[in-house]
Amino acid sequence: MERLKKLIRDIPDFPKEGIIFKDITTLLSDKRAFARAIDTLANRYIDRKIDLVVGIESRGFVIGAALAYRLGAGVILVRKPGKLPYKTHKTVYELEYGTDQLEIHEDAISPGQNVLIADDLIATGGTVKASIDLVKKLKGNIVECAFLVELEFLKGREKLNGYPVYSLLKF
Ligand code: AMP
Repeated sequence: MERLKKLIRDIPDFPKEGIIFKDITTLLSDKRAFARAIDTLANRYIDRKIDLVVGIESRGFVIGAALAYRLGAGVILVRKPGKLPYKTHKTVYELEYGTDQLEIHEDAISPGQNVLIADDLIATGGTVKASIDLVKKLKGNIVECAFLVELEFLKGREKLNGYPVYSLLKF
């Protein structure tokens, strides 16, 4: 895991001053590291009867789709407003300044399906909290929220009302 952590590149002051952006593209492009990361995450859920993996736009699509394939699950997309073509449910969530929205197709999940939520990184937890709300609206059974990276000092997992969180690489 230390090798994987070293493959994540810090970009200071991106997208704005004061933020250290964790650039995972340098891990994704390393074939052994990418396989190791996905296999380690997937092994955790192999016996959990996951029906669907939710990928959160947009790096979450990469992690979510790879995990879904390994788990023999379907993959569904949580997207920024106006991107999904069919009827959607929307949720508004807080950003550092102002608010943003996420959407899911209203028929993406059947009640009781076992859902794993995936994203590349949990920071303050606002994005995944909004995604949890969307999955709950569709009555999906949230098994866990899985991340490649967790920025522990931001305490994002405390925002999730007890929904289980797992992250591979902690900073
Ligand atoms: P949050 O809602 O604060 O947990 O932010 C999570 C979302 O923003 C994820 O989709 C991340 O890709 C992105 N993100 C937030 N902070 C960072 C960071 N420091 N480095 C890379 N991505 C980040």
